[in-house]
Amino acid sequence: MALERLDKILSSTGRWSRKEIKDMIRHGRVRADGTTVAKPEEKFDPASTHIQVDGQTVDCAPFVYVLMHKPAGLLSATRDPKQKTVLDLLPQHLRRRGLFPVGRLDKDTTGLLLLTDDGPLGHELLSPKKHVDKVYLAQVEGKVDRSDVAALAEGMVLGDGLHCLPAGLKPLGDGSTCLVTLREGKYHQVKRMLAARGKPVTALHRLSMGPLKLEENLKPGQWRMLTEKEIGALR
Ligand code: URA
Repeated sequence: MALERLDKILSSTGRWSRKEIKDMIRHGRVRADGTTVAKPEEKFDPASTHIQVDGQTVDCAPFVYVLMHKPAGLLSATRDPKQKTVLDLLPQHLRRRGLFPVGRLDKDTTGLLLLTDDGPLGHELLSPKKHVDKVYLAQVEGKVDRSDVAALAEGMVLGDGLHCLPAGLKPLGDGSTCLVTLREGKYHQVKRMLAARGKPVTALHRLSMGPLKLEENLKPGQWRMLTEKEIGALR
């Protein structure tokens, strides 16, 4: 999280001169996360801080990158007429920026979800050419074995003719849980591949996406901004 002086953050929007910004701050017209800021040199994270001038929100960060621990029961969509989406977990000033989930997790799938308003990067990460590994922890009915490992490694062709790229499968413990590594993100892909092997998935959780890892202290429903280092690693 890179902290910057408030006057620099406001100045980067190109809307005010340095002098106007100093005056606005001096007259108590600028708030950061609801608190009036007294000094231009106070520092904030432009990506995550809700900055307002005269009560109006000012978008200060060019792009925002949110790492969320998606809980079960929410849609990975930007809006839905009937059901709650992951966007409902974010504050209004971030929702208004037009963030979208980079790839979808099923309603009942939990785990790492990246949201951004950086369209080019989001689309690049989804491109099969980019080959970003996604690692899932799956719980299955029955137990995965060496023949399942070999089938996924070869690249499965599903009943409807869908060709899957070679994928990683690592049984854990007695094989009723396993790690699945995908380089693509086709609809219900993990569930469909394991169902095709006769091991239907009973729970699915995404642990990582490329260099991004879901840390244990980020609980379901919680989110945080990506660090500068993480953003750099995605490019
Ligand atoms: N594969 C699935 O089947 N579901 C998900 O949510 C993600 C990958």
